[in-house]
Amino acid sequence: MVLIDSFGRPLLNLRISITSRCNLRCNYCHKEGEEEYLAETTKEMTAGEIVRIAKVAVSLGISRIKITGGEPLMRKDLPQIIKEISSIENVRDLSMTTNGTLLSFTAQQLYSNGLKRVNIGLPSLDAETYNKLTDGKVEDALKGIRAAVKTGFQPVKLNIVILNNINAQAVSEMIDFAGQNGVILQLIELDPINVKKEYYAIHHKSMDEYEEALKDKALKVETRRFMHNRHIYHLPKATVEVVRPIENTEFCTHCTRLRITSDGKLKPCLMRNDNTVNLLAALRNGENDEELRTIFKTANQRRKPYNITA
Ligand code: SAM
Repeated sequence: MVLIDSFGRPLLNLRISITSRCNLRCNYCHKEGEEEYLAETTKEMTAGEIVRIAKVAVSLGISRIKITGGEPLMRKDLPQIIKEISSIENVRDLSMTTNGTLLSFTAQQLYSNGLKRVNIGLPSLDAETYNKLTDGKVEDALKGIRAAVKTGFQPVKLNIVILNNINAQAVSEMIDFAGQNGVILQLIELDPINVKKEYYAIHHKSMDEYEEALKDKALKVETRRFMHNRHIYHLPKATVEVVRPIENTEFCTHCTRLRITSDGKLKPCLMRNDNTVNLLAALRNGENDEELRTIFKTANQRRKPYNITA
């Protein structure tokens, strides 16, 4: 059984933000669309609550779970969370998105506990640019990437949010780096959510020119059907995926995702905060699994392609 929303889109993915805490300060960060103050008013979900929510989601046909944050590696109980979610029957895909700077310490344990693939944010290979963008050290992120590859995560994907006048010129260097290290590169269009207007105006860049150049060079182009119809370009020496949500009706038309914020709200759309449903409050009120399933169904019915509501 899979839930279908009012636009005929199946609900297959849950993106769980397990914390709003982060050790970096990326100046382009969309914070998974969370309103910043919310996280401070409610305590983070416990590991037990996260696992229970994942189980309810899986019982409704969701089979792909992504752990995100904040920075998920800020939580000491992450290995336990991974272990318990990965052992839920019918979880077909469990992955995590991380800035990678703390990954080398626990990569092996996370892998043994059932995490098999990771996305690592890498906005620049240049130490100074990386530091200006994130407040962190690129060497720490590179250490995390090396650890992920060595551990055997498959695939390891590098997320680069494209920023005009900052890293947009470094894409071919990033493609070479990805090819040399056996990782997939994800070129991500800057999303305006939680980003200052002026910043967006200066740094947003259309993905058209990249897609054109990639099309020319690709040996094969694939479409990820249940993942926003994203394009994957298989180049002779690297694989590049393009994530372009803005002014792209395909992206929303093929969305199969629901999010849960770090304070336990089901969030039907990254771009909106006016249609969330508070799942954690119900759970803490002692509601049973059937009631939690009803809340999931309500959130699913609130899913709407953003381009239709805008
Ligand atoms: N701390 C983790 C990390 O750095 O990956 C997880 C949270 S972060 C919000 C998840 C991913 O969102 C990042 O890897 C980055 O690719 C993407 N991201 C962040 N801000 C974005 C923005 N304004 N537009 C598009 N993607 C963004």
